[in-house]
Amino acid sequence: MAGGSCSSAMNNLVDFHNRRISYLRISVTDRCNLRCRYCMPKEGVSQFGHSEILRYEEILRLSALALKKGITKIRITGGEPLVRKDAVQLIHQLSRLSGLQDLSITTNGILLEEFALALSQAGLKRMNVSMDSLNPEKYRDITRGGDLSRVWAGIKAARLAGISPIKINVVAIAGFNDQEILEFARLTIKEPYQVRFIEFMPVGISTEWSPERCLPAREIKGRIETFSPLIPLQNGTHDHDGPARLFKLPGAIGEIGFISPISDHFCTSCNRLRLTADGKLRTCLFSEEETDLKRLLRSGCSDEELEKKLDEAISTKPLRHGAIAGVMKRCHRPMVKIGG
Ligand code: SAM
Repeated sequence: MAGGSCSSAMNNLVDFHNRRISYLRISVTDRCNLRCRYCMPKEGVSQFGHSEILRYEEILRLSALALKKGITKIRITGGEPLVRKDAVQLIHQLSRLSGLQDLSITTNGILLEEFALALSQAGLKRMNVSMDSLNPEKYRDITRGGDLSRVWAGIKAARLAGISPIKINVVAIAGFNDQEILEFARLTIKEPYQVRFIEFMPVGISTEWSPERCLPAREIKGRIETFSPLIPLQNGTHDHDGPARLFKLPGAIGEIGFISPISDHFCTSCNRLRLTADGKLRTCLFSEEETDLKRLLRSGCSDEELEKKLDEAISTKPLRHGAIAGVMKRCHRPMVKIGG
């Protein structure tokens, strides 16, 4: 086995740096119905052909194997996962896999009104919805054409369908939505959302990233504290919060989270793997290293061979990513082709 990566006999995934790998993010498509400025270039990206992306049965086989080896948490993402045909059926089949403790999806919400009830009936309990502005014009601008009212309609439908919690992902971009930080924070007073401010990351070339546009989490927090104190919530309040540092405004129903992959990275506790829509396994968002699982799958390999490949990939998981302040380095694949 490659190095001391992991032992299938122990039925768990532990890397060289003693990190237990338990979280798999699966991108089911690189297609998206939005063109967010921070995520992809204006002209879009060349899309994978139908035969290039993993079939659902391939995703299910890999997921079952990963769960057997120690993954407990799966997120479905993209591109926009709800644009892929029969995404709800995939959720349904994943939700039935043994060993899965937490299943979630990240969506831009545009198609959510249509799918929320079916997703809930398929076994989805919670979700993240990306929404970077509360102003319809600004939202249209950042997404290059998106309709904010559809996202709100989707969130409403998800609430009615009993999906909870609903986390709202806000990529904080200086000069774009920094004037809305307080408005987003205030949203949590009367509504049960967890609003999560995410630092703008240098992922993919030709997106509109620059160091000046990345607002550090502590600055966002400071701006909210000019309005009201923030009550810290204990880390690990909910199993599903990952690296978010959580707070509450006094008396608020909802919560506020800060995710700081750049200014205060969480690499030492990173428990993630990413599977791209074209079947490449990535152990670090910022690394160009990928393991081609699709080729292996389609060569008629055994589960043992797949497990071995998984172990080998995990043995290459870097201790730290390369986009930490001072060592700024972009990864080439745009976010839409990795899966955020
Ligand atoms: N289409 C879905 C959506 O919009 O939520 C899922 C895919 S999207 C790539 C997943 C998440 O990545 C979104 O919350 C998005 O805001 C985030 N994201 C994309 N590019 C990013 C960047 N450069 N920095 C930080 N977050 C980014």
